Parts: sequence; C-alpha cells; structure tokens
Amino acid sequence: SNDALSANTSSPSKPTLNGHPPNGTSDRSQIINDEKQFIPNLNDQIAAWGLRDAGFDYNLVAVFGSQSTGKSTLLNRLFGTNFDVMDESKRQQTTKGIWMCRGRDMNVLVMDVEGTDGRERGEDQDFERKSALFSLASSEVLIVNLWEHQVGLYQGANMGLLKTVFEVNLGLFGKKTQESASQRTLLLFVIRDHIGTTPLANLQATVTSDLQRIWDTLSKPAELQDRKLTDYFDLSFTALPHKILAAERFESDIRALRGRFTDKSRDDFVFKPAYHKRIPADGVAFYMEGIWEQVQTNKDLDLPTQQELLAQFRCDEISAGALAEFNEQAKSQKRPIEAGQVISGLGEMMRSWRSQALSRYDRDASRYHQAVYKRKRADLVGTLDSTLSPLFVGQLKNLHKAALVSFKAEIVAGLKVDGYNFADVVSKARASAEALFSDGAREIVVVEDDATWQWEEELRLLREEIRSVADQLRKDETKKMVNTIERKFKTQIAEPVEVQLGSPTPEIWDNVLRTFKETLARSEASYLTKARSFDCTEEENDEALTTLRHRAWAALRVKIDEQTADAAILTKLRTYFEERFRYDEQGVPRVWKPDDDIDGAFKKAKDVTLELISLYAKIEPQDPELAYTPPEDVVEGTEAPGLVVFSETKVLELGARFRREADAHYVEAKRSTVASIAQ
Ligand code: GDP
Ligand code: MG
Repeated sequence: SNDALSANTSSPSKPTLNGHPPNGTSDRSQIINDEKQFIPNLNDQIAAWGLRDAGFDYNLVAVFGSQSTGKSTLLNRLFGTNFDVMDESKRQQTTKGIWMCRGRDMNVLVMDVEGTDGRERGEDQDFERKSALFSLASSEVLIVNLWEHQVGLYQGANMGLLKTVFEVNLGLFGKKTQESASQRTLLLFVIRDHIGTTPLANLQATVTSDLQRIWDTLSKPAELQDRKLTDYFDLSFTALPHKILAAERFESDIRALRGRFTDKSRDDFVFKPAYHKRIPADGVAFYMEGIWEQVQTNKDLDLPTQQELLAQFRCDEISAGALAEFNEQAKSQKRPIEAGQVISGLGEMMRSWRSQALSRYDRDASRYHQAVYKRKRADLVGTLDSTLSPLFVGQLKNLHKAALVSFKAEIVAGLKVDGYNFADVVSKARASAEALFSDGAREIVVVEDDATWQWEEELRLLREEIRSVADQLRKDETKKMVNTIERKFKTQIAEPVEVQLGSPTPEIWDNVLRTFKETLARSEASYLTKARSFDCTEEENDEALTTLRHRAWAALRVKIDEQTADAAILTKLRTYFEERFRYDEQGVPRVWKPDDDIDGAFKKAKDVTLELISLYAKIEPQDPELAYTPPEDVVEGTEAPGLVVFSETKVLELGARFRREADAHYVEAKRSTVASIAQ
C-alpha cells in the first residue's frame, strides 16, 4: 500500500474491553449493538477522542449503502478510521449495528452503519428505518455508497433505502421551524467501481432523476405537498475506480475526495454550516441515546422536543459542574465568617467565584436550546446568590460589630488626650466607624441595585447602636462634668463663705447667699456652655442642673455646718463678746475700776452676743431678694438640709454654754477690781 491511511484496513482492531478503546483515541466504538441496543459509554468515548469540548467545532458523517459495497473500506481510507472490513476469503457481513470512530487528525465523527440488502427481510427494513432516523437526526453528510452497476436499478435496494431516508427526513425536518429553516443535509453519492465508459455526469443525471421520482411518489402530508427534494437535500456525486483493478487511481481519487472533508477553503468542502445539526459535542451522546430510545420504542421522533430534553439534561449537568467548584470556593470562607471575622476582599472573591461559575456555565450551556439555557441560567444565578448571601449577611454583621468596637476604642483613645472636646471625639469616631462599615459593605455588594445585596438596613441598625453608645458615653461624661464643676464650686465658695461667717454682721446671710448664688450661676453657665457642644437633650440638661444645684446647696451647707460647729461657733461668740466686754471702743484692753459699770457693760456685751446665736441659727438674709429656697430633697437619699442652722434646743444649749463662759469673764472682771482695791 502506498497510503498510510490504508494501514488500518489490514489490521482490524481487536474487540474493545467494555467498549473502551484499548489503544489510543482513534479507536472505533460500537454505539448500537447487534441487538439494537444503545451502548451507553459514548460520552466517555467522545471525551477519549478529545472532542467533548469541541462545542460545534466538529462534524458528523454517516455512510449508507448495501452490504459489502466497500463502505467500511471507504471510510477507513477517507478518515483514517479502523472499522471492520470484510475478510475477502469469508465474504460475510461484518458491520453489525452502528459504529463510530473519530477521523484521524480531524474533528470528524464517522458513523459506519450496518448495510442492508435483502429488502425482503422485514427486520432489515426496520433497522434501515431506525438507522436512517438516527443518522439523519445527527449527521451533516450522508455518504450513499453504491456500485456503478446499481445505478439506474430503480427497484434496487438503494432506492428502497433512499425512499426510507426521504420519508424519515420529512418526519424529522418537514415542518421547518425558525431555527431549522436553513437546515439541510448533504447526500454524497459515491459510485464505486466506476469503469469510466459512462461519464459521471450521466450517472449523476440518472441517479438524480431516480431520486426525483422517489420524491414525487412519496406520500407527503398535505401541508408538505409542495416541498421539493432540494428544500431539504443537497446532492453531490463522485466516483471511484475499482480498488484492485485500478488500485493506484483508487488511492489517489480517495486522497482527492478526502480533501473535500478536510479543506475548508475548497468550494466543494462538504461540511457546510447549514448541514450542522447544532448538537454541541458534549451533548452528542445524550442526544443520540435519546433519539435511539425514541426510535426503538417507535415513538414519534420530535427533534425540537429532543433538543429541549437534551438542553435540560446538559444545562443541568453543566450547571452542577459550574456549581461544584463554586461551592468549594464559597465554603472556604464560611467558617471564618461564622467565627466573626471580617474577610478583606470578600466581595472581590465572591464576584469572581460567581462570574467564573457563570462563565463556565455560559461557555458550555449557551450552545443549547436558548430558552432552556436561559431558564437554567436564572436558576443557577439564584443558587449562586443564595449561597453567597449568607456570606454577605455574615460579613455585614461582622462589619457592624467591628465598627462598634472601633467606635468605642476611638472614643476611649480620644478621651485620653488632654483638652479633648467630647463632641468632636464622638463625631470623629462616629464618622470613621460608619465609614469602616460602609466601605466594607460596599465592597461585598455582588450585584448592584439588587434586593439581595442591600446593606442600608444594617447601617441603620449600626447608627442606632452607635447613637445609644454615644448617649451613654455622653451621660457619663455629663456626670463627670457635673463632678468637676461641683469640685470647683466648693473651692470657689470656701474662702469667701469662711470670711463672711467669721465676721458677723446683720448682712451675714445676704453676703453668704450672694456669694452662693453668684458662684452657682457661674457654675450653671459653665455647664451649659460645655453641654451645648455635647448635644445634650433638654432633659439631660435639666437633670444635670438639678443635680448641680442640689450638690451646690449641700456643699454650702457643709461649709456653714463646719463654720458653725460647736467649737467654731463658741469661738466666734467668745471673740465677739470679748471684743465688746474686754476691749473698749478703741480696741484698748479695759482695766476695770471699782466705779466702772461692770454690770452694765457685761449685760450689753452678753446680750448682743446672744443675739448672734439667733442670727446664725437660720439662713435668712435681710434683703428678701436674696432669699433662697433650698432644693427639697437631696440626691442619693440623704435628708435635705434646709435653712435652719441651729434648732431651738441648740440655740438654748449654745446660749447656756456661752453664758457660762461669759459669767466666768464677769467674775474675773469683778475679781480684778477687788484686787485693785486691795492693793
Ligand atoms: P461494507 O460491508 O460495505 O463495509 O464493505 P467492506 O469495506 O467490508 O468491503 C467488502 C469487500 O469489498 C471487502 O472484501 C473489500 O476488500 C472489498 N472492497 C472494498 N472496496 C472495494 C472496491 O472499491 N471495489 C471492489 N470491487 N471491492 C472492494
Ligand atoms: Mg462494513
């Protein structure tokens, strides 16, 4: 042999193990066995041939013809396949059922269909019809193989076969749909053992007119009466010389014919786009199985339905494949999110997983029935989004928590800085916490303007929580401020009140209350100035001011009580008395003489001093304008100190104690005169 392609014919392959090719990708595979069963490993076989991902970039050709007309030989030479060829010495039928093989170095699936002969055998007719249906539903080119001497034998087996093909084709493609409007099939007649005395053109004319006759006599459904043979088929003719008698020409003519299957640039390239049945390579197996099942059960073979079923099955499969990887990816972030982590770049990851899954789906599924493809795509989008949504929601929650934590931390840090402005610290912390949340939320939006990817509600919740934290902080801060003001108030009143209480005049309380009121007014003003920048509420201000007034009053009373404690008041009384009894108007110490009016002076000094007790006894200014009504009750449950400094009993007791001291002075004064007389 001078053709490498012929090598296969001389060594037919061993039967395959479980239908799998034992050696290499160009092995044949039986797809319909002798019992007319579909052998369901075609999908793996197509994958093994490397055509599974070819999409529409493959072609399918089938051969038809009588038994032992060199069909398998022709296919093997044309496509480099290794279909069984009849052993010359035995001359018995070899090809049983339907076999498939990938053409060598080409994306072509070749089907070798069991030939039919005895038209008288009913069963053959049955298989002939079924295999015609099967082949027409998938093939672009049907090679019709016949001997030259069969041409013109109108009653011959070939014509019966072609009648069947036409009938079956009408059933399949008769009612042309929008999609199949341009759908055609090429019938390539290969006339074998062409001697050459009758030119090919004449043979072609004969065959064509025979075909036309068959077509015309075909019983067509009413609505297809006008359809012409050429509406469905393109016809092409070629001839080959005798394989043995003209071996060299046989080989070179086959090589030339092969070019029509491989060279796209040729005008007579056989695989025209209009012939393609538009079954993606990864769906061929499922599709063929479905077709065969329909054919076997003698159901009406409705191609649109088959294509839709195929689309549903494949789109589901492709979708599941796209989902598998996606689920792995999505799963990887599930735990960390559940553990409360904020995952940086999650949105980018989610968007890329999603678009990867969709493009995996689109790449393969978009070749199928469009409505089904789109419907399943919407389902897939739904599944993808419902898988991503918990990650989105989880991350939102985690962002919310992180934002709150950062808000609190920033405030704590801010309040440590000397001279901080509380309101500024809070508003800065709020702004950065909200930005942290919003930036994070925006990043994980997978689909813009879509109900699944909304985060405004979570932001609203966050704001609410920030507000309540801020409120609490402000309350604390207000308390702190009231304390500071109280401390300052105490220091401010301490000295003036001490001085005022130490220099008893009838205006003693006017002075003390004036100091108190002025200092309190300053304290209140200072509170309000600061509180304004805090955004305190009226209520909070009222509460704080009430507290401040209570505390101020309490502080004043503490100061007064301290200055009017027994020892202190008695000292004051004593000093006051002595200043009037033991010193004269000029402040000079008196030396009593016997005719001095000791009794009168003593009584006068004692009485004015005793009056002082009543003056101190109640906080009562001379000027009614300065009168003060103390707060009713004091915060934290202690009893309210009112205006009374000394109770009536206390006044009597102090009076008694003072009198005893005064009497001692009197006695001493008396004694001093006695002493001076005695001298
Ligand atoms: P199939 O049954 O149609 O597949 O035919 P085969 O390819 O098995 O061939 C049947 C017999 O015909 C074999 O013995 C081949 O060697 C022989 N044969 C193949 N091609 C030709 C040809 O072109 N002319 C002739 N006369 N015999 C051929
Ligand atoms: Mg054969």
